[in-house]
Amino acid sequence: MYNYSDIRSIHLEVTQNCQANCPMCDRNMNGKGINPHINLDELSLEDCKRIFTPEFIAQLDTMYMCGNLGDPIVARDTLKIFRYFREHNLTMWLSMNTNGGAKSAEWWKDLAQVINKKGAVIFSVDGLRDTNHLYRQGVNWDNVERNMQAFINAGGRARWDFLIFEHNQHQVDEAEALAMSWGCEKFMKKKTGRFITQDSKKKESHQSVDKKGNATAELKKPDAKYQNKALSKLDIIKRKYGSMDAYYDAAPIICKVKKDNSLFITAEGLAMPCCWTAGRMYKWWHNDPKVEQIWDFVDKDALNARNGLKAVFSTGVFDRIQDSWNKPSCGAGKLKVCAMKCGAEFDPFAEQFK
Ligand code: SF4
Ligand code: SF4
Repeated sequence: MYNYSDIRSIHLEVTQNCQANCPMCDRNMNGKGINPHINLDELSLEDCKRIFTPEFIAQLDTMYMCGNLGDPIVARDTLKIFRYFREHNLTMWLSMNTNGGAKSAEWWKDLAQVINKKGAVIFSVDGLRDTNHLYRQGVNWDNVERNMQAFINAGGRARWDFLIFEHNQHQVDEAEALAMSWGCEKFMKKKTGRFITQDSKKKESHQSVDKKGNATAELKKPDAKYQNKALSKLDIIKRKYGSMDAYYDAAPIICKVKKDNSLFITAEGLAMPCCWTAGRMYKWWHNDPKVEQIWDFVDKDALNARNGLKAVFSTGVFDRIQDSWNKPSCGAGKLKVCAMKCGAEFDPFAEQFK
């Protein structure tokens, strides 16, 4: 797929911790309790120094913190890790996606200075004071407002990503105006792909619960103009191939991270090609998460990036993933998550940003 020397972009999941409990996030069960398969792992600065040598950092164009199971603002060493990357590469793009609701104003000013305009923070804020918490359960609006303004006023470049549901669609224009008045450089009307189920069916709504399991908001799709266009492509693909599974068997793969020479590091310190492959490892609804096909490719010792990235590449795991794409079907070993996320004709991820 690619080699150590090809990598130009790192996607870093620094932690599995978060102060929030968003109902469609795999770190919790619709908002209740923590995913029973995770141990709230987190990477320290020392871990990152072992994984990313100064020479390796010098070859990068980008490092961004996001991930599947936590928010970088909750991690202990996030600022130190950004500083370490900046120290060894003065021009690379540094960025992160966050709910924005934690850390002090001082911390946010420091972050703006470390990034030093060569990078941005993407604030995932799904509504205004009265609605953001309906999806971003546990995020305090006053903190978001204070932190975004502290970051921007210290010279930070901010982008606001607004995930649109029925309950906040009437606020899209108002939020965009607010974003511009605060000095955000971009406002993204994000059309969630999460109204497509794990088995590729449409779903109308999603019941959120609080940490104790009591019902909270019922999340519903917004009006058609704000819906993810992949939803309407589902029927077309099913008509053409007979079923989504038949499409996944046949679909040519256009690997997004191969194109970008990007590598994902999990909060456990495992090197995986992307967040989607890693994201199959710990689905909370399985009793045994290892029923997922991705485990055919995961040997935690071999993928342990703390032993050095060169060692991980020498296992050949990324080439084995690529080789799977030529198998005749997912049943015969083609990695299904690759067909789901990077199949040529169906792409709910890309449709979020159109
Ligand atoms: S803020 Fe991010 S990591 Fe935290 S619960 Fe929500 S989606 Fe998950
Ligand atoms: S899901 Fe598979 S094909 Fe898509 S980016 Fe990840 S490794 Fe590449």
